[in-house]
Parts: sequence; structure tokens; C-alpha cells
Amino acid sequence: MSRTRTPVVAGWFTEGTVEKDFRLLGTRCCACSSVFFPRQDTFCRNPGCTGGELVEVPLSRRGTVWSYTDGRYRPPAPYISDPDAPWEPYVLIAVELAAERMVVLGQAAPGVGIGDLTVGMTVEVVPGVLNEDAPQGGGTVWTTWHWRPVTTATGAAQGGAA
Ligand SMILES: [Zn+2]
Repeated sequence: MSRTRTPVVAGWFTEGTVEKDFRLLGTRCCACSSVFFPRQDTFCRNPGCTGGELVEVPLSRRGTVWSYTDGRYRPPAPYISDPDAPWEPYVLIAVELAAERMVVLGQAAPGVGIGDLTVGMTVEVVPGVLNEDAPQGGGTVWTTWHWRPVTTATGAAQGGAA
């Protein structure tokens, strides 16, 4: 059965599963060149700007780890989760994008733990899956973005900006 892939937030990233084409999508103000992510589509948030047209721009694929942490326990309400489902620890990374001069949060790709990360290492954005509905619930695959350390051909993680 083919499953529907639906972005968990529409318009924040490109669709499709080809890693090299996958990008986060922000907007850039034509007047002051400020870039926004999450995207701003109605007005420029730069207080020193009189406002310009906001156009969609793909963000840099790679950035450097600014900070990271992991979630090892189920957050309290109002966070919604199934108390009967096993809690899967996850890693959250704050990634600095040099060209856009911003920090973008995201979950680490599956299999990446905090022991695999260091501040300043290069990571790249890859398509990811946040959740999959049960087939009887429509079987929708909810897509998101993940950050993954950039590895060399030998498989070792690479430091510094690429
Ligand atoms: Zn502006």
C-alpha cells in the first residue's frame, strides 16, 4: 500500500526524499535582505526595515552545531503523547547557519546520539519522518527535517565548516 507523505508543517521544507535536493525553506526581505525561518510571509520583522516583499529562499544545507541536548523522559502535559507507548529518547540540535546568520533547531537523524556530536561540527539537513499513523488511521507518514553529522568517505565525522 502506498503511504501519503505529508509535511508536518507545510511550506517549511522541500518535499521529496532525495537527500541532496532537500532544503529548509525560509523567506528573505527584498528591502533589507533579512532571512526568516520559520518563514515570515506577511511582514518583515526587522525593526529597522520599512518593509519589503518577502520571497521564498532555500536555506543553506549545512551548518555548524551551536548547541545540543537530548530528551530522555516524556514531557508533561500539555504535551500529547501516548502514555502506553515506549518513550523514545531523542536528540535536539541547534544549528548555526553562517550565510543566514541564524540558528535553526531540529531533531538529530535516527541513530545519532549526543555522544556523536560536538559544538562546531558540520551537520547537514536531511529529510526525516516525525511520525507514522497506523494504516487504519490512513497511514500518513508525517515528514520533517533532521540534522545529521557530515561524514567523510571513511565514515569519520568532520569538524569545522564545510
Ligand atoms: Zn526587511
